[in-house]
Amino acid sequence: MTEHVLLIEDEADLRMTLCDRLKAEGYVAESAADGDEGLQKALRKAHDLIILDVMLPRKNGFDVCRDIRNAGIATPIIMLTARGQLVDKVLGLKIGADDYLTKPFEILELLARIEAHIRRGTSQPAREAVVLQFGALRVDLKGTTVSRNGKAVPLSAREFQLLRYFAQNPGTTLSREVLLREVWGYSEDTFTRTVDVHVGSLRQKLEKDPKQPELIVTVPGLGYKFVA
Ligand code: CA
Repeated sequence: MTEHVLLIEDEADLRMTLCDRLKAEGYVAESAADGDEGLQKALRKAHDLIILDVMLPRKNGFDVCRDIRNAGIATPIIMLTARGQLVDKVLGLKIGADDYLTKPFEILELLARIEAHIRRGTSQPAREAVVLQFGALRVDLKGTTVSRNGKAVPLSAREFQLLRYFAQNPGTTLSREVLLREVWGYSEDTFTRTVDVHVGSLRQKLEKDPKQPELIVTVPGLGYKFVA
């Protein structure tokens, strides 16, 4: 499988050098030259890893990182920071970056980190909890059954997978793209309507009033959120 890397870096020379090198290493590399463009690209399409410079025009790397995480995207992020900015490192890790690298760095070092993070991402074991309880709603992950107020709610396989993903990520805004990738296993933007249809049928089965959902709420412009 070919890994997709998004590089958000405003220095044209470094951007081009890194892009060329990533391609030479077999990655599909996409790049953005400012924070706004980088965030849009990160939200539009699934990547396996994001390299994010801190000092960026239009939107700095910390804000981009926070917005990516707030959109429910868990892609590993390696931040690029200037020499000796310890505060930056701490802040970066706090708002959801996975790693940071101080400029100037050796490209080999960056490539090693990229590989390590991508490998770690794909080998993460599934969460262990077997039964999740949210008020009247009970989701049995092992038995793949759902009940509400003790009454079984029949779900299709896909509805169950979607509910399971919501229930494992409560309180997180999840974009349609993320849901497609994680639940359906693909990321084509044209199919995001599929997510809406399945969220609609889950609401019909689980919400007290499907028109006023309290469990799976819409986050305008971003996606959906499971409210535990
Ligand atoms: Ca910069």
